[in-house]
Amino acid sequence: METLNERLWHRTPADEVVELLKSDSNRGLDRFEIEARQREYGPNSLPARSGPGPLVRFLIQFHQPLLYILLIAAVITALLDEWVDASVIFGVVLVNAIIGYLQESKAAKALEALARTTLTEARVIRSGETRNIPSTELVPGDVVLLQSGDKVPADLRLLRSRDLQVDESALTGESVPVEKKAIDLQLETPLAERRNMAYASTLVTYGQGRGVVVATAGNTEVGRISELISLADVLETPLTRKIAKFSRLLLVVILLLAAVTFIVGVSRGQAKFEMFMAAVALAVGAIPEGLPAAVTITLAIGVSRMARRRAIIRKLPAVETLGSTTVVCSDKTGTLTVNQMTVLEIWSAGQQLRTSGSGYEPDGRIEVGGEDHAEVLASPAVRHCLQAGIQCNDSQLINTESGWKVQGDPTEGALIAVAGKAGLDGSQLEAESPRLDTIPFESQHQYMATLHENVAGQPRHLYVKGAVEVLLSKCPLAMTRSGETGPLDVALVHRQVEAMAAKGLRVLAFAGKPLPPTTNEIRHEDTCDLVFYGLQGMIDPPRSEAIAAIKACQTAGIRVKMITGDHAKTAQAIAIQLGLDGVHQDNEQAPIVKTANDLAKTSDQQLIEIADQVAVFARATPELKLRLVRALQANGHIVAMTGDGVNDAPALKQADIGVAMGITGTEVAKEAADMVLTDDNFASIKAAVEEGRGVFDNLTKFIVWTLPTNMGEGLVILAAIFVGVALPILPVQILWVNMTTAVLLGLMLAFEPKEDDIMTRAPRDPQAPILTGDLIGRIVLVALVMLVGAFGSFEWAIGRGYSETVARTIAVNVFVMVEVIYLFNCRSLTKSMFELGVMSNRWIGLGVATMVVLQIAFTHLPVMNRIFHSAPIGWDAWWRILLTGLATYMIVGFEKWLRRKLRSRASAKNASMSERPMNTLDPS
Ligand code: ATP
Repeated sequence: METLNERLWHRTPADEVVELLKSDSNRGLDRFEIEARQREYGPNSLPARSGPGPLVRFLIQFHQPLLYILLIAAVITALLDEWVDASVIFGVVLVNAIIGYLQESKAAKALEALARTTLTEARVIRSGETRNIPSTELVPGDVVLLQSGDKVPADLRLLRSRDLQVDESALTGESVPVEKKAIDLQLETPLAERRNMAYASTLVTYGQGRGVVVATAGNTEVGRISELISLADVLETPLTRKIAKFSRLLLVVILLLAAVTFIVGVSRGQAKFEMFMAAVALAVGAIPEGLPAAVTITLAIGVSRMARRRAIIRKLPAVETLGSTTVVCSDKTGTLTVNQMTVLEIWSAGQQLRTSGSGYEPDGRIEVGGEDHAEVLASPAVRHCLQAGIQCNDSQLINTESGWKVQGDPTEGALIAVAGKAGLDGSQLEAESPRLDTIPFESQHQYMATLHENVAGQPRHLYVKGAVEVLLSKCPLAMTRSGETGPLDVALVHRQVEAMAAKGLRVLAFAGKPLPPTTNEIRHEDTCDLVFYGLQGMIDPPRSEAIAAIKACQTAGIRVKMITGDHAKTAQAIAIQLGLDGVHQDNEQAPIVKTANDLAKTSDQQLIEIADQVAVFARATPELKLRLVRALQANGHIVAMTGDGVNDAPALKQADIGVAMGITGTEVAKEAADMVLTDDNFASIKAAVEEGRGVFDNLTKFIVWTLPTNMGEGLVILAAIFVGVALPILPVQILWVNMTTAVLLGLMLAFEPKEDDIMTRAPRDPQAPILTGDLIGRIVLVALVMLVGAFGSFEWAIGRGYSETVARTIAVNVFVMVEVIYLFNCRSLTKSMFELGVMSNRWIGLGVATMVVLQIAFTHLPVMNRIFHSAPIGWDAWWRILLTGLATYMIVGFEKWLRRKLRSRASAKNASMSERPMNTLDPS
């Protein structure tokens, strides 16, 4: 076989390419050949970025200003012959780097695993059969089918194409889709102009095509020019950036303070060495070293919790944004409804037919309302209506152990099932009247058409099915009972459609016409002057979990809007069943549903108001979705928008959270999305929002917990220097406190379960600072408690004649005790731990128990005494330490209680002054 790295495929005629690759353009490769080639070429996946190895990644952990300071401090301490202190500081730097490395690897691995769950599929022809396979299994020579929405799975030489357009921005950076054609190119042409090639990782935005794989994996163009996106970059979000900036600022402030401490101390005649150690103590104490790692790990935990609830995060910032979402715009079919269709009513040539039976089982009866059953079904209009349903159809029904299932589109499945009930058999019809050509269904056009041989004695016949408005605009004529054609009574059909749609039925229209015998291909222009055959109305009940999820969202101050391609009346009926706010059964109150047509002429300015008020948008086009997202954002909303089609990509990108459907969504939509739902279910969006709020809560709790310690330690050192007494806590002791408590206490907050009221509060304003005035107040309060507790205990111990070592040990224990007790306070920002359930987070119990053991060792174990300059203490001291802890709990508990009281009084006052709904965005 020709070498596959040869880059001449575009200059070689298609037949020759297929021959060189020993394939067959109609049958594809056969099984044995595929196995051999898979062994030879390996899986079709891009090689992972070679990236830095574990050692370099570990060394990068030291590349932090804080660690530089610690390292310098360690070196100077070593030069001063303080070997124990120097080794402790070195040890801490090492432990910090190890923790950082492990956390980062864990977070990156979690994201990598998620990336793998969203692998693409490819449609191939193998041994003459069409099937879907994971794109990793493709080999050179495979024949691949492309359709709009697909991601091209490997480099292909096109064999056939039909209006094929591909977005090659992944490869060339050019975002305007390029037209592709299976033509022969003679000359050497640059990559961007090779119109007969489709390259891996590019996206099909329109049309269909068939191509033979000429290169896979690293041999593809994209494999050559780029490597897999670095996951390390993905670990950044606006919040992590904000925190990094905050940390840098803090660092400068602290270094200045440390310098001032040194200068003030020395100028007051204290020893330089001691003042240097005090400055180091201040720096290491006041810098919140655990913060960046805690943020990353909390976000990563959020990502995996969301994945467990069927929402795969593709872009990490989404985890944060989800917590602030104020509007969710959702598709109807399949997301809010179960997507299990059953045709209940048929209306053709003035006859009303009803069906019995449920699901996709093609058995059941068709009731014709007192008329002769056989005669009605034999009527040409009814027959064409049913036959168009089964033949203008790309799906199949299969009988599995758990019942009849659809392979393909549920709407089409329902049409096959009902035709079966009327005695029509798809494969028999296909044998009698084979299909010659297809215009596939695209939401943009809202119809599908097929060309058949030999239908009802006609050599060529066109069948079209689709949305009622679209088809009616193409039908001047209708078929009568006897099979003649006459003018179509459009008003009558509309009345019928409205009546069916008002019951929540999804209504499709069916039409067709004979074509000249020489026709072998159809185009959009051919679907005109059609004869109307009839309507079929199918039920698609709302998902019960969606009803509950909508209620939960609405209680959480999140508005839910339905944006559907379906008919306005159907959408309205389903919206009422779903309990959507802003939709009333009472017609008097109802502007309720707007269609894309209604809004075509509205200005963007007017749309801003309409988007805010209207809850249901029907016959929506992708352009309308995009306009709606923009209008809602202009109103200050944070918008989550679902989508599945190719043309939804711009709206998904524009939305704050683009949500793609994992099952029915196209690759294009998934690429554009921030989050993919593995079950296409609205309830999973709600779950993700809930988790997003939880992540933010836990992050805030960690910050509120960690900052008082840093502040408290800083204040203690500053106070000692300014008062001119011995340091109540030494640098190594500060390091001990910070490292052990961050890991054993603080990180446990990331596992805190979500609070009960998480979905009854209004969404978080993303512009609002993480720390509100209340929380800053609490941080300062606890820092002061630490200052008074630690400094007071130290001075008390000295006053009682204890050595400085003992006094410091007491001060260290006070710090840890306050942190332990305050940790329980931080489990909720507003409630007490008894309201939460004392044991509802076992990790906290485990962390605290370990911390207590470590503190006893720190105080009483001789080896620890040597390393950390600590000393055993007596019961009189332990009592004081416990009492300080208790006082902390009472003080913070009282502060929480007071704030709650003040808040409820203020909101009662507000409520009496205005009657604004709680989901208003206005923070007042
Ligand atoms: P949603 O946007 O909520 O998922 P939808 O499924 O109705 O709703 P589309 O898939 O865009 O949205 O379909 C729009 C309309 O096109 C449908 O209401 C229906 O009338 C028609 N339609 C849907 N599926 C097909 C199909 N396979 N063949 C022909 N027409 C279809």
